[in-house]
Amino acid sequence: MPWAAVGQSSRLQTLIPVDRLSHADRSVCDLRIREGNMYQNSRRIAACRQCAAWVDLNQRDGTCRRHAPQAGDTPDEVAHWPLTHTDDWCGEGLAATSTVQHEVRCEACVYWRRPPDGLFPYGRRDQLSEWWRHAGHCTRFSPLPLPVPGVRAFWRVTHATDGCFDGEAKQS
Ligand code: SF4
Repeated sequence: MPWAAVGQSSRLQTLIPVDRLSHADRSVCDLRIREGNMYQNSRRIAACRQCAAWVDLNQRDGTCRRHAPQAGDTPDEVAHWPLTHTDDWCGEGLAATSTVQHEVRCEACVYWRRPPDGLFPYGRRDQLSEWWRHAGHCTRFSPLPLPVPGVRAFWRVTHATDGCFDGEAKQS
């Protein structure tokens, strides 16, 4: 059963089942039923093209910056932002007008750890030396438990100009 957020502001919205909406509420909520899925203008659910965390690459695809990268099991892995389609959506989208959360750039984030001269990993992976000079580790999330013992965890690498909505800006 799809639910809809009803209310004048995102902070005061109430979730109620769609089949109990009045005609007026339906128009207020700007519901669009499409292929069995529901899109709506709310802080909780938004199509990627409507989401503040989506970076448009070519009007069809973009990258999702909603969350910071998880830790991995290989040193100095580059965190690649996942591609999504403009019509995709999820339950953690943020309406572009949301004032609740803001994107934080890595270079301004308390969770970003960069040695003074940047990183110099073996093999450089798929980035140039110049990119690595402005790279650091994102330590936003602790490593997740694994089903096997003894696996070492490593935080993934982002560039100074990357950013996400899990970051926290340093106090100036
Ligand atoms: S902004 Fe902060 S939390 Fe987000 S990717 Fe960069 S370092 Fe990680």
